[in-house]
Amino acid sequence: SEERSLNFIEQIVEEDIANGVNNGRVLTRFPPEPNGYLHIGHAKSIVLNFGLAQKYNGKTNLRFDDTNPVTEDTEYVESIKNDIRWLGFEWAAELYASDYFEQIYQFAITLIKKGLAYVEDATAEEIAKHKGTPTTPGTPTPSRSRSVEENLDLFQRMRNGEFKDGEKTLRAKIDLASPNMHMRDPILYRIKHAHHHRTGDKWCIYPMYDFAHGQSDSIEEITHSICTLEFIPHRPLYDWFIKELEIFPSRQYEFARLNLNYTVMSKRKLKLLVEEGFVKGWDDPRMPTISGLRRRGYTASSIRELCERVGVQKRDHVIEIGLLEFCIREELNKTANRVMAVLDPVKLVITNYPDGLVEELTADNNPEDESAGSRTLHFSKTLYIEREDFMENPTKKYFRLGPGLMVRLKNAYIIKGESVEKDADGNITTIYATYLPESKSGGDTSGLTVKGTIHWVSAEHAAKAEVRLYDRLFTSENPNAEEADFRTFLNPDSLQVIPEAYVEPSLLEAKVGDRFQFLRKGYFSVDPDSTKDKIVFNRTVTLKDTWAK
Ligand code: ATP
Ligand code: MG
Ligand code: MG
Repeated sequence: SEERSLNFIEQIVEEDIANGVNNGRVLTRFPPEPNGYLHIGHAKSIVLNFGLAQKYNGKTNLRFDDTNPVTEDTEYVESIKNDIRWLGFEWAAELYASDYFEQIYQFAITLIKKGLAYVEDATAEEIAKHKGTPTTPGTPTPSRSRSVEENLDLFQRMRNGEFKDGEKTLRAKIDLASPNMHMRDPILYRIKHAHHHRTGDKWCIYPMYDFAHGQSDSIEEITHSICTLEFIPHRPLYDWFIKELEIFPSRQYEFARLNLNYTVMSKRKLKLLVEEGFVKGWDDPRMPTISGLRRRGYTASSIRELCERVGVQKRDHVIEIGLLEFCIREELNKTANRVMAVLDPVKLVITNYPDGLVEELTADNNPEDESAGSRTLHFSKTLYIEREDFMENPTKKYFRLGPGLMVRLKNAYIIKGESVEKDADGNITTIYATYLPESKSGGDTSGLTVKGTIHWVSAEHAAKAEVRLYDRLFTSENPNAEEADFRTFLNPDSLQVIPEAYVEPSLLEAKVGDRFQFLRKGYFSVDPDSTKDKIVFNRTVTLKDTWAK
């Protein structure tokens, strides 16, 4: 791999190691909330966190940030673990923020005892009103002056379940005049009488993100806690808790999240697409989820490659989805075996080819890779070719088949178009052609050169397949734009199903996930919907970027 310069987080880590910070120990974490499947934005965070640990002889924890009982589910936990492993990474420990609930509760008691936290009676609305604005200071609510004893008692009773949801909160007592709104007595705990996917009904108070995330980092002695830019204003609070609780000094660093155009990248929105049936599931091949991309035919290495190319930035920006496609195309060009598949078939009869003769032809599997070997193709009198490879009244620049026009059948012979047969509606049902016996590929003595080469399959040998072609899920480059609901930008033509394509019979032996280049048609991968009787292919990506910029 090529040398690249250090990104800013690697620079920080190298400086820390040089200065003996934490004795040069590096421990990162990937902290997903188990409220949905991972998307490619998460892959960026995974590659960064696990990549740092690999590079600096450290470790990475997988920590489920499961402090919100309402949205979380064990199904998501399993899918997240599966996706991280598929991306090629293994965590040092599998941990759950919910396992720290007792410890975090004790941290809250410590703050109350230091006079740095109080139980608030005010409603969310009243709290907001008292918070002031970025240019005017907030004002204290009556609860702010409660005694330590009263706070300890009320907080215990919150835990005991004596209050209803929303009736009380626990707030840090910091600075109502701070220019940073996050420092204006942020909420630490809220009451939620809800079942938690791991702790069950043990708790009815749950810590807020800011009072769970950093604390979990400290408990695990994470050295570098890497998050996205929107957490920059939370950092003073992160550091304040560490100082006041005198706990392990994890350090937070922020980088720009990965954004892709023509898609959405929020679990909440992706979940709506699933629940409202716009896609078939979290792993629908149109989804920007890891599982969707995998099903579409993306490799883990192509996703890691995208993350490397995007780099680690300090400013938000949007990556073109074309870059992701470039990464998989480059890889599959080197690794995918070539086969022939006819997606929009029309019958072609070679009138001067002997009836009943079947020739075995040899075809290279991958011109980019000699070790890929070759395979046998069956050639016969009746073939299928693509409908678009024949033109009844060809234009001047048309170098494929037409009446009197010659074209080469890949790995086989030169043929010449003769006539057609049509149905009552005028659609061509059969094309008749003749072949030049001396033009066989590999031993051509015809002396002719033709401009076009087309793919084909032998009608009697071909296997039927269902082929699914995908387009962008959204018609807008930025479906997150504020002016309309993101769902109004859904592309109604994002999926095109071809129920009966014809493919080389060798493909009947392909396994789910196998990847191929269908000559001239793109890269395809075998979908898990495939059965013994019907193989289903997803188009991963076209051969060239056909999308207008
Ligand atoms: P979403 O809004 O999609 O739910 P999230 O940040 O709430 O994203 P988490 O499960 O909390 O999702 O994310 C786990 C980790 O992945 C966090 O450290 C988060 O910063 C990181 N992450 C999430 N989305 C992206 C992204 N688009 N680019 C880079 N990192 C991301
Ligand atoms: Mg989050
Ligand atoms: Mg989220």
